[in-house]
Amino acid sequence: MKNIYDYTLEELEEYFISIGEKKFKATQIFEWLYKKRINSFDLMSNIKIDTINKLKEDFKLDDIEIIAKREGKDVIKFLFNLSDNNKVEAVLMLHDYGNSLCVSTQVGCNMGCTFCESGRLKKVRNLETHEMVLQILKIEKELKIRISHVVLMGIGEPFDNYDNVIRFIKIINSGKGIDIGARHITVSTSGIVPKIEQFIKDGNQVNLAVSLHAPNNEIRNKIMKINKAYDIEELMSMIKRYINETNRRVTFEYIMLKDVNDSIECAIELANLLKGINCYVNLIPYNETSHIEYKQSSKEQIMKFYDTLKKNNINVTIRREFGGNVDAACGQLRANYEEGLQ
Ligand code: SAH
Ligand code: SF4
Repeated sequence: MKNIYDYTLEELEEYFISIGEKKFKATQIFEWLYKKRINSFDLMSNIKIDTINKLKEDFKLDDIEIIAKREGKDVIKFLFNLSDNNKVEAVLMLHDYGNSLCVSTQVGCNMGCTFCESGRLKKVRNLETHEMVLQILKIEKELKIRISHVVLMGIGEPFDNYDNVIRFIKIINSGKGIDIGARHITVSTSGIVPKIEQFIKDGNQVNLAVSLHAPNNEIRNKIMKINKAYDIEELMSMIKRYINETNRRVTFEYIMLKDVNDSIECAIELANLLKGINCYVNLIPYNETSHIEYKQSSKEQIMKFYDTLKKNNINVTIRREFGGNVDAACGQLRANYEEGLQ
């Protein structure tokens, strides 16, 4: 049985038409679920009893729960238990411009980046759309807050779960749904080139971030398995197409790994690679994990790298470090939980 939070407004309209009802019922249901935040069919007082009974037969409601929470300064990390007892996490970051939630899209990840906890744990399965939607709803309810920004940068590769992710984006972006503006939603990919192409064709308005992490194939091959399937040349040419066709800027994420990709030569090579491309680079201080031996680059090295990019006219920012003390890097809370360190 499907979950009601899996349905976009259009899909719910089709459902109502298919059972011989008027399609505006879909809007009413969306209002109960996403505006009034009612998660019981019985409480939907403007829906007639026959329809409520039919809905109860056809749909499940929510079924994920918060089982652990860790609080740091300006960051709260949540661990969810799914209906089949798999676990995923979401990280809430409290910025001065609003509350940003980093959601997970899969249980584990098959991309196998060597520095990443989620990759170490391998993919168990894709998340269903409702399991992403409910990460937002549950946290908003728990903390009595509103989330203004969503980044798809938790556990998993969003473009390896493309259809469910796009449905999720439609639901949270819909004015009748959670109503988070497209410019406030960012999807991050490790670079699955055909899916970026699909993303262009589908005309999505949300922001795209690409995990680049290296200025050349030699280094990228060592740390990101996906580079062997889609190398930097293929990736960059698809990104240029994205920028041309959408007129939008791309963010490149670049994790700073000590003595791996953080030299000045790397910075110069990166600047050359990105010259003339409408983008900015987000340098991410690596969040060290107990299972993987990479080290975070020193503050001085990160600053030198930053200065080199700046001097070469690349827009660059250094990501504020969130939640090192709450295992905020993707996959860490789950990994520790599963080893009983919680
Ligand atoms: N799979 C997608 C989105 C999830 S990962 C992707 O790779 O883009 C989101 C970001 O977190 C990626 O840029 C990833 O490289 C980064 N990341 C993974 N492990 C990290 C760690 N230990 N410290 C800092 N960033 C990390
Ligand atoms: Fe997967 Fe992203 Fe981690 Fe790579 S960095 S293993 S793509 S979650």
